[in-house]
Amino acid sequence: MIRAPIINTALNAASTLRQVLSGKNAFEEVISTRRAQELCLRDVSSAPLWLLACRRARGRAEKAFATGSPTEVANSLARWSELHRFGEVMSHVGALRPTFAQRHLIKLAESWYEAAVARGVRSGLLKPAEAQGIPAVSLLRASVEDSTAQLFALAAKQQQQLQNCLQKGLGGQAQGYLHMNDEDLRGLTEMMKSEYASHLGSAAVWRRAKYKVSISWPDMHKISDYCQNASTRQRMFEAYYAGFDSSVDEAALELLRTRRQLAQKLGFRSWADLEMAPLALGDEAGARRFLDLCWKDAQAALAPVHKRIEEWSSRDASGSSERRGKVSQADEAFWHSHLSRQSDIWKFAEYLSLEKSLPGLLDVVGKVYGVTFREATAPGYFSRLPSGWHTSVKIFEVLDGAPRPAGVKGDPGKGRLGYVYLDLYARMSMLGRQAVELAGAGILCPGHAYVSCKLFRPSLGRSKLLNVEEAVALAHELGHAIHMLCHMGSPCDFSDLPLDLVELPSTLIETIILQPKSLAKYATHHTSNRPPPESLIRSCQRNQRFFINALQNASIGMGLHAEAFDPFKATPADLRREAVSLWQRYSLVPADPAFHPLGTDAGVHVAAGGNQVAYLVCYLRVAGILQAKAARKDGDAVWLQRDFPKRIRGQLLDQKFAPKGWASRFPAKAESQPRPHPLPPLPKDTSALLQLAAG
Ligand SMILES: [Zn+2]
Repeated sequence: MIRAPIINTALNAASTLRQVLSGKNAFEEVISTRRAQELCLRDVSSAPLWLLACRRARGRAEKAFATGSPTEVANSLARWSELHRFGEVMSHVGALRPTFAQRHLIKLAESWYEAAVARGVRSGLLKPAEAQGIPAVSLLRASVEDSTAQLFALAAKQQQQLQNCLQKGLGGQAQGYLHMNDEDLRGLTEMMKSEYASHLGSAAVWRRAKYKVSISWPDMHKISDYCQNASTRQRMFEAYYAGFDSSVDEAALELLRTRRQLAQKLGFRSWADLEMAPLALGDEAGARRFLDLCWKDAQAALAPVHKRIEEWSSRDASGSSERRGKVSQADEAFWHSHLSRQSDIWKFAEYLSLEKSLPGLLDVVGKVYGVTFREATAPGYFSRLPSGWHTSVKIFEVLDGAPRPAGVKGDPGKGRLGYVYLDLYARMSMLGRQAVELAGAGILCPGHAYVSCKLFRPSLGRSKLLNVEEAVALAHELGHAIHMLCHMGSPCDFSDLPLDLVELPSTLIETIILQPKSLAKYATHHTSNRPPPESLIRSCQRNQRFFINALQNASIGMGLHAEAFDPFKATPADLRREAVSLWQRYSLVPADPAFHPLGTDAGVHVAAGGNQVAYLVCYLRVAGILQAKAARKDGDAVWLQRDFPKRIRGQLLDQKFAPKGWASRFPAKAESQPRPHPLPPLPKDTSALLQLAAG
């Protein structure tokens, strides 16, 4: 909400009073009117008003139960689910007031809601296998015994503990600093090194060395990808992974144990089976076959690249005989970056000023998905006071139909699809917490999608320069947002779509946004307006290592949750060994003795659950979509063709899609087989995946 504490209190109170007096409730109105108009934040920011709406929903559900009609019970609970979800998500975007009471009110509303769903399931009036618009997790919680519900709560707590443990290592708090000089950091640009130097320069006589390098995950990346000094890379590698000790393994093991118990109670053999059930891969064995196949099919593309890397590496190590011929794990990233000339990637930010590039980027997204973004209320302080939106939120009206040059008329299609609220910068609330908890895209209510970018705000008067990853992430989240606006079901149904479907529109657009032809449409130098040179465009393409990493991470995330790994018998050391061998399965270089796989993205994935193989599935489908051009005569990129938006919208976004259903969530209670996955089967040949990488 806009920063104006006293005015906010007065205007929010006025909005609440108006609603109370008129007997209207904006929460109820907004969830039932799709695509209406820009959301007035003040009207939907009062937690007590939301609670009032929930109480009315409870009353309606009571009446439905009294009629004994399953349809009425299901309908009243579906509507209540929407209302309930709306309040929760408004709290996640930091809009619900008063702050001190909202958590308490949410808990109260949740207890009403969960009791009603449980009553529906237990009375037999609500059939989980047929219910629509009610979140699967709520149905699941209502269907299990108390002991299982307690395990769910325990797993959530242990997940948080593991995340805290990992965060210490990833952030470098556990490892401290390395002291280095210019020779140690050879290959890093002045800009990259400047972060490690003292602001006092050579006057900082107390410094042991010119640069004090923190040992966090981003710094580790910087050194391993760009530093030309091999011994620095090795030093950094060892120092970084030393931050992940057995306390991480123990925390992971405890979580894995609880998840295994939970999975078995629900009728699965392992947590990996549970995670894979909603996906196209079906189960753990299917996912492993898929990963093995990807690795096998990738060999033809990997072999020549690896050979060149070996040659370079041995040339570089001439003199030190023990390194000759073999590429060490600590050096692999460097040689891959070197080969794809990614050392220049940092310069790309100069071509991605947010102000100049955003319109072009929205244009590319619009062309791909057949929509037009039109900025609604400008982000000025006074223009935002009435609605209450923060000035760092850009509000876009999204219209059906691809962007057209001015004056050219076209078919208006469905007209307005809704609004996207693009929240650019991270900010703190008055209480010193993050103002917005939500990360990425989230659907607020039908027709309104919120995208939280959490970028660092540039200093006053400077323009915001994005790095390539930030631009890719922005496009990815916009892909989600457009999908949310186009989806034909309710927001609760959207949240239940399988991960390998929900990530498809976003991975498609993030891949397209990196194509040289789209970069040309939005990348322009922030001062000279010149387009980026071709060599620089090449440098920001993804290399093979991006996909190998995805394969390794998916292998670890799924493998530690697999049936073959017994968390009850394993020791923390066993867990680490297993993680290394799951990584090694898809690596051409041997694991370094200092390596700990949970220190990579795989650690975060293990904490989150182990279904990240879904992203690889999406990349493979994206490769299939984009490489379909081989059959085209004109040879133009497939997404630039005129009928592309219509096809992609019709087949993917403007759909309701019934997920695989209750049988895939709770086999112990399912009376039928799971429905088939809503998307076509995966291709038998996965070699297209590596063709997405610049060779
Ligand atoms: Zn995503």
